[in-house]
Amino acid sequence: MNESSALAPHNVVPHLLKHDWTRPEVDAIYHTPLPDLVFRAQTVHRQNHAPDRVQTCQLISIKTGGCPEDCAYCPQSAHYDADVERQGLLDPQHVIGVARDAVARGVTRFCMGAAWREAPQGREFDKVLEMVRGVSSLGMEVCCTLGMLTDAQAVRLKEAGLTAYNHNLDTSPEFYGSIITTRVYDERLRTLAAVRKAGITVCCGGILGMGEKESDRVGLLQQLATLDPHPESVPINMLVRVEGTPLASMPALDPLEMVRAIATARILMPASRVRLAAGRKQLSPEAVTLCFLAGANSIFVGEKLLTTPNPGPDEDEQLLQTLGLKPLESHAV
Ligand code: SF4
Repeated sequence: MNESSALAPHNVVPHLLKHDWTRPEVDAIYHTPLPDLVFRAQTVHRQNHAPDRVQTCQLISIKTGGCPEDCAYCPQSAHYDADVERQGLLDPQHVIGVARDAVARGVTRFCMGAAWREAPQGREFDKVLEMVRGVSSLGMEVCCTLGMLTDAQAVRLKEAGLTAYNHNLDTSPEFYGSIITTRVYDERLRTLAAVRKAGITVCCGGILGMGEKESDRVGLLQQLATLDPHPESVPINMLVRVEGTPLASMPALDPLEMVRAIATARILMPASRVRLAAGRKQLSPEAVTLCFLAGANSIFVGEKLLTTPNPGPDEDEQLLQTLGLKPLESHAV
């Protein structure tokens, strides 16, 4: 089965997916009374996905720290003084070994992240291709996040077996300039276009709790839902407030805002996998349960997400077991 058929849920008729969502429409959904919103999202979820399945993904940092970008939430930015140890590109065989262990634990998607402004050329890019080939040969979905990509790089990644490319929009176009000044929104959209053109699926979402207004959350969701096709994977992250970054002392986000955003994403993009991504450690088991009820059907497992903490494998297994949820099998082969 190829990736597109794997990700297209059985009931979704692609031409029935809507891509012309307006801000007022998204705003109205986002502000539906919460019980109605969750009920509607769960209904859409059940029409399009197996309600008892959650995909587990593992994320590894293959090159850490020293990034020239100034994303205000990121401890890997060279602009800030966070306690992150810099590390050059990992050895491909080591990375493939980590992926092999992840397969043995039932993980079906392996994501490799590198703190680059843009994917490099030459030897380092060849090493990334070796990692992609190796992980792909294990039958996993393979995702990379390497910064901006050229069309030619996207094609080479596709040929190496890359399933998906992660490049988040982070927030609304209006709020974006308060978070990142070293690249513009349109550059992000161009990388997403290169990924699409190469036939790689798109993983694209954002981060909540960075000091944005509700209208910015609505703006982000509208941007995502007007991409055509929709991103196959939509990670919704909650800011992890890391000491040394400009957002370290942001007030904590109300977890119900995560629930609202996930439910709205599920309704706007019925066929996509909605990922409850970074920040899960800050959510109670009850809040995580509400996120699943709102249509999240994927989580990251592993004690670290790039550089920030994540619940341990035992905690995750326990929670999924308590809720009666099962891991989604791999569709990558
Ligand atoms: S989020 Fe990515 S691009 Fe931004 S500073 Fe961190 S590693 Fe660099």
